[in-house]
Amino acid sequence: MATPSGARGTARPATPHRHPRVLAGARVVLPTGTVPDGRVTVAGTRIAADAPPGAAQVIDVSGHWLVPGFVDLHNHGGGGASFTSGTVDEVLQGIHTHRLHGTTTLVASTVTGDMDFLAQRAGLLSELAEQGEIAGIHFEGPFISPCRKGAHSEELLRDPDPAEVRKLIDAARGTAKMVTLATELPGGIDSVRLLAEHGVIAAIGHTDATYEQTVEAIEAGATVATHLFNAMPALGHRAPGPIAALLEDERITVELINDGTHLHPASLQLAFRHAGADRVAFITDAMDAAGFGDGRYMLGPLEVEVAAGVARLVEGGSIAGSTLTQDRAFKRAVTVDGLSVEDAVAALSANPARLLGLDDTIGSLEPGKDADLVLLDADFELRGVMRRGEWVVDPQLG
Ligand SMILES: [Zn+2]
Repeated sequence: MATPSGARGTARPATPHRHPRVLAGARVVLPTGTVPDGRVTVAGTRIAADAPPGAAQVIDVSGHWLVPGFVDLHNHGGGGASFTSGTVDEVLQGIHTHRLHGTTTLVASTVTGDMDFLAQRAGLLSELAEQGEIAGIHFEGPFISPCRKGAHSEELLRDPDPAEVRKLIDAARGTAKMVTLATELPGGIDSVRLLAEHGVIAAIGHTDATYEQTVEAIEAGATVATHLFNAMPALGHRAPGPIAALLEDERITVELINDGTHLHPASLQLAFRHAGADRVAFITDAMDAAGFGDGRYMLGPLEVEVAAGVARLVEGGSIAGSTLTQDRAFKRAVTVDGLSVEDAVAALSANPARLLGLDDTIGSLEPGKDADLVLLDADFELRGVMRRGEWVVDPQLG
């Protein structure tokens, strides 16, 4: 296995900054548009309204883009660590690896496992959520379709029994954010209703549903498409399947894995044009190898070979998550997919923050919100990351 590329993820002590800091001169992407010679003032852990002249340390970030920290709804690990099986230290290392790539908020995803095991993981991850290290938990499986299982163990899959769904949310003690399920399976619609009643996002994915079955699940309260296009029937002209239903309904946010492997740029653009910039969330669906390197890994109980950054199951060759980081997804969006910087910010920050109900504290560079920001150079390479007022990646600009 390769050596870790990032530092250890243990929490660092917060160093209080006595004076506000002003990041000045960048192209600052705000909800209202991009300000060419903008300023963002950071006071303590938050973004502040502009400081009086002379009262602040001014950091010249001209020639850069300043965008909100990225928010990842769907992420299984990184830095050699798995959120499904790692120790607390390993999970923190995975979180830190993604912070080094601009993800200041992430929801930790599990893969299919035995119910008791998943409940136990929910306990561990919920503590990290309570400490503010993650925004919550996403259970991907076990309630998914054997026909569209991707990199999930078939023998552990089960129909979505509402009582079992309830068991997982209870084990997460208020920190369950999302459950991906194949809503066409027996118990699927009742499970969607249960999730909606408990304020947990019901995400349609790893599904073999028809168009009509998908519409029924949306009517029952599902609001997310788990990695649209991947692990679901393709769009057919007589059988449009889940993709058409998910794209056309304004209540649905569609997750897209923008790594160049999971989706052709034309498919990504089709989804973006159809759903509109406000309904797309770029996720990583990252596994342990993200920010780490090629080699052999475990995804839950399944063995994965990562070669040239592409993760595939050793048995069968299915794509098994990604090695994507959100800084790469951002760069790809604007340099390959032809999206505007503002649309990329929507898909990587604003939309996922809103979906999680966290848009009062994160997702945009506005006074009062957490000072979570990413500094990119003119070529969209990451140069700095600040989380809650502390540099995670210090651009060392003075
Ligand atoms: Zn996943």
